[in-house]
Amino acid sequence: MENSGLEKYKVYVLRIGHRPSRDKRVTTHVALVARAFGAKGFILGDVVDKSVEESIRKVIDNWGGKDFEIIMGINSVKYVKEWRNHGCVVHLTMYGINIPNIVNEIKEKCQNILVIVGAEKVPRIFYEISHYNVAVGHQPHSEVAALAIFLDRLWEGKEINITFPDAKLVIVPQFRGKKVVKRS
Ligand code: SAM
Repeated sequence: MENSGLEKYKVYVLRIGHRPSRDKRVTTHVALVARAFGAKGFILGDVVDKSVEESIRKVIDNWGGKDFEIIMGINSVKYVKEWRNHGCVVHLTMYGINIPNIVNEIKEKCQNILVIVGAEKVPRIFYEISHYNVAVGHQPHSEVAALAIFLDRLWEGKEINITFPDAKLVIVPQFRGKKVVKRS
């Protein structure tokens, strides 16, 4: 079955603290990792950035995933508090509990998961309103890396085989070179 194993969790990714003047590329990468590794949607908190949305939509248009939801400009704190009524909130931060020590509990207790990643300094309130503050190691690195590893541990690697039935472009793996098939 296509994408089997991924239906167990419904994941959305909330990016907070985005600064349109300097974070476009990293924020786009957060969204692309969310899409490529099985999340159902991406939320940009507190700000609308049309150029980020355009970049994500271009990828979706070619590589599939038209059902991937993109939401922008909502109030992040309110969104998280509302999410708590029907799911778990996981905030990725190097100050949290290291992922090997908490991921099994998340897998057991959660189905709808909102993953929060920050940009600059994350306001205190997100540490308080999240069910889980999860570290991907206790070194500072990147929201893109943290998200990818979190999703990989959640799905135990199954997300790496994801496919999109509506893709116009599909890669045929090669030992060397590139082969891409166009589907109408
Ligand atoms: N110094 C910022 C702070 O106080 O939260 C973090 C800045 S970091 C460039 C941006 C984001 O990457 C963080 O908000 C977090 O979501 C993620 N991140 C970076 N290192 C991490 C780690 N070791 N574990 C989990 N998430 C991490």
